[in-house]
This record gives sequence, structure tokens and C-alpha cells, in this order.
Amino acid sequence: EGFLPFEHEPYFSFGDAAVAQQQRDAYRRVREQYVGKTFPIILNGQRVEGAETFEVRNPADTREVAWRFPKATPAQLEQAIEGAKAAFEGWRFSEPFQRASIFKRAAELMRRRRMEFNAVMGLENGKNWSEADGEIAECVDHFEVFARETMRWSQGKPVYPMPDEHVTMVYEPIGVVAVISPWNFPAAIPLGMALGAIAAGNTVVWKPASETPLSSLLLVELLFEAGLPRGVIQFITGTDDVLGDPLVDHKDIRMIAFTGSKEIGCRIMERASKVQPGQRWLKRVMAEMGGKDPTVVCADADLDAAATGIVQAAFGYAGQKCSACSRVIAEDSVYDELLEKVVRLARDLQVGSPEDNAVLGPVIHEGSAQRIMGYIERGQHSARLALGGERASSEGREGGYVQPTIFADVDPKDPLFQEEIFGPVLAFTRATDWNHAIELANDSEYGLTAAFYSRDPRKIDEARRRIQVGNLYINRKCTGALSGTHAFGGYGMSGTNAKVGGPDYLFWFLQTKTIAQKY
Ligand code: NAP
Repeated sequence: EGFLPFEHEPYFSFGDAAVAQQQRDAYRRVREQYVGKTFPIILNGQRVEGAETFEVRNPADTREVAWRFPKATPAQLEQAIEGAKAAFEGWRFSEPFQRASIFKRAAELMRRRRMEFNAVMGLENGKNWSEADGEIAECVDHFEVFARETMRWSQGKPVYPMPDEHVTMVYEPIGVVAVISPWNFPAAIPLGMALGAIAAGNTVVWKPASETPLSSLLLVELLFEAGLPRGVIQFITGTDDVLGDPLVDHKDIRMIAFTGSKEIGCRIMERASKVQPGQRWLKRVMAEMGGKDPTVVCADADLDAAATGIVQAAFGYAGQKCSACSRVIAEDSVYDELLEKVVRLARDLQVGSPEDNAVLGPVIHEGSAQRIMGYIERGQHSARLALGGERASSEGREGGYVQPTIFADVDPKDPLFQEEIFGPVLAFTRATDWNHAIELANDSEYGLTAAFYSRDPRKIDEARRRIQVGNLYINRKCTGALSGTHAFGGYGMSGTNAKVGGPDYLFWFLQTKTIAQKY
């Protein structure tokens, strides 16, 4: 398998003054180089400007336009898909070692530019230094992991032998994959889906979220610099009327790899099931969607560790992670003590600009802030407000700042318990005992991540068996999956359980050929 051993990319220590200064310098350079610019889309390796553009605003102060991107036209979407189709004829037969070597080189290039990528992401989606660093380190891990996975899957699998026939089973690529991604992980998520596709020998039409296109464009250009043949990725930005349904519906798209909301994921699943005139396959859909992730705390748990894990998972990146802890379910006997500890830690979270590395930054935009405030206002009638509940401010900046908010005594039927809010809002619910707590954890249409805190092996065994999520974490927080180690993807309405970064992920992008030969 060529490239062993493997180590996860270490994070920067921003507590070190020199490292912090490097990150500030990177912000300064990114501001000089990129802010105010208009960027292109990339069709067949050519940078193409748009007649019409849209603005990307800095969530930390939405009066600032960070940069602009083209609104692609229907003809450009057609060109992108045609280009990816043409490139597939070459790339499908490329040597796996060539693909893997490109990923290895991309990892090296990325290591040199991590601070720059952190700053770009901060200005697009409001991640502070550490949150951005975690995601960019994950991109380096993705390159390393997918290099190895490319080689592993190139070998086919052994089958049971039979006399007189030589039988092999091999994996082949499938065609053009549309990669459609969300703004909350604008680098690691589209990169994971795109690498899965191209590692398998497919080509890609890459459509980033409109809030965060530059994090994606820089990755695409880095892959070209690392030697990826132009044409293998077509990079396109614009509006949903041109790049949403029309991309999903297109007869030449073989697969849609989507990560985002339940609403759009379900829409894609439905539309992709219709066979279009001239379409010669059934489309494959990977749809990784939302979460309503619980942390269960048993009476015997280390409450300080649980409180720390809960606060990090609930309020890191203002709760805008699919894996964020949004429900705490605690046994009656420790409920009040745990609530008090969590409130005490959350109260001290400093709200401010991600560019200054504040712990709690803004939510992505005003629309999102208002949606979150709607939940908070309704919640005040149905549950007990234990912390926050109001808009926050950050030194005269205009942004979607929301106080860390905790509701106590939330009924399991309440929207605070059932619906994905995607903001810094946490619901506490009381369980009569730990069995009841496991039942409540499972009382959700989602099943992405969960954390379970206990020191009792019997309870831990039950949790392992019964909690219905794709990523279960025992005695640690429910965010922070690492590529290659914590294969990621949920159960239920959290989606298709694709398990990015895991050993089965490439299978999603392949088809299997059995060849039986008589001598
Ligand atoms: P979203 O609104 O569903 O958007 C995701 C992507 O879909 C964007 O690129 C969007 O483009 C595009 N899109 C919009 N309409 C479309 C259509 N009709 N057909 C095809 N694509 C369309 O989600 P989001 O607000 O960006 O992301 C937040 C959600 O993602 C949350 O629910 C979160 O839980 C989920 N998420 C899940 C995972 C996971 O691994 N399970 C990871 C991260 C996030 P525009 O931006 O141009 O509208």
C-alpha cells in the first residue's frame, strides 16, 4: 500500500506568541491579496470570468464584501459537464499510483499554506483560528488518506476459486460526479467528496456553497498545481436556479455527492430518481444531511469532563456543525449539578471576531441569526431559559452574533429537542435513569453523532449496542472526527451513511466487474 505509516496532521499551537503572529500575518496577506477581488470559475482548466457576479460577505462584519464570484450561465454548466465527460475518457484509465502521487504532492503543498487557508475560511464563514486549523489539517489528512485508499482499492478483492476458470473481481470508476457542498466545512467536506470521486477514477463538477467559494477554489487550484489534469475537476459557482436542480437533473451526471441540509438532500434524492431522456444509468446519490446530536450523561460520569465536552461541542463554531451537541440528556440525580457546570463554562465564552480568534464568533448570516432567534423566542414559552437568549454584539461590527443559549427542562416533543437549529442553542432534558436517557437519545429522526459519559462498563456496553448513530463517542465530545480514523456519516435522516474518511468510502464511487476467463 505504498505510503505507510500515517500520522494525523498536528494542529498549530496558537498559545505560542510566534505562531499567533504568523496567523495574524497570514490574515494581513490574505486581505492584501484577495479581499475585494473577483474570482473566476474554472472550465477545462481555463479561468473564466462571469458577466454577472455575486458577493461573498464577511460574517464577522457583513458590511464588508470579502470577494466576488461569477454567476455561471446554463451554457457554462453544460460546458462544465461536457468537459468532465471528455476528461473521464482519459482519467478513468489513469494509473492509481499517478492519482495517489498527486494527492501526496497536494498534501505537501497544502502544509505550506495552512495559515493562508485558515484566514480565507475565517473571512468567508467566520471560523476562528483553531476551528479553521482543525478543518485545514483535516484536508491534509484527506490527501494522505485518499492516497492510500486509492492504492488499496486498485487491487480488487479475492473471490472463491473454481476449477477451469480464472476469476477476478475488479473495481472501475462510474463517470461524472456532481459534488455539492455546504458552507460550514467549505474545504474538508467538498474535498472529501471530490477526492473520493477522483481517487476512484471519476471526474467532478464541483459546486461549492455560495457563502464560501474561495476555500474551494484554492483547493481546486492546489490540486492542479499538484499535477491533476485540468478537466478532471470543473469548478462552477452561481445561483440555485442554474446550478441546483439543472445540475442534479442532467442526464450526463452519473452520481451526486451532496452534503448539506435534510431539505435539499431529500429533494436531490427524489429528483435524481427520475430517469431523464438519454440517461443510461440509475443515478447514485450520496446525501449526508443534518443532525440533532445528544450527549448522554450518566449519574456515575465524570461531570467536569462531560461539561467541558458539552460546551466545546455545543458552542464551537457557534454550534454550526452537523456534529454539534444540541441536546444534553442527563440522569435526574446529576442533572442540576451538570447544568450548573455547563452554564458556568458557557457564560465565560468570549464573543467576538474570528479574525481575532474569539471563541464564539458570528453565525453565517443575518437570515440564520433570525431563524435561530425564532427558536429562542418560541423556546421561552416552552422551556426554562438557563443562559443567554439574546443577540450579542462585537465592538460595533454588524454580524449574526448570538449569545450562547441554554434551555433547561426541555420536553422531548419540543422543537428545541427535535429540530436542527444550527446555532449556539443547547437543550437540557431530564431522564429518570440511564436506560431512559438512551431511549431519549434515540428519540430523533436524525442519527449522526452522540456522546455518552459513564464509567460503568455495563452502561457503556448498552450504549454501544443501542444508541442509533453513525458516530458514537464514549467519554469524549461528539465533534472532531478525524479522517482515516473516525469514518463519518449518520443514520436515519442524517443521510446515506457514506462514512467519509473510512475504509469503505471509495466503494461509493466505483462499480464492480467480475471477469471469468476460460483457458
Ligand atoms: P444547504 O442549504 O442544503 O446547501 C448545501 C448545498 O446545496 C449548497 O451548495 C447549496 O447551494 C446547494 N443547493 C441549494 N439548492 C439546491 C438544489 N435545489 N439542488 C442541488 N443543490 C442545491 O445546506 P447548508 O446550509 O449549506 O449547510 C448546512 C447543513 O448541512 C446542515 O443541515 C448540516 O447539518 C448539514 N451538514 C451535514 C454534514 C454531514 O456530514 N452529515 C456535514 C456538514 C453539514 P447554494 O449555497 O448556492 O444555495
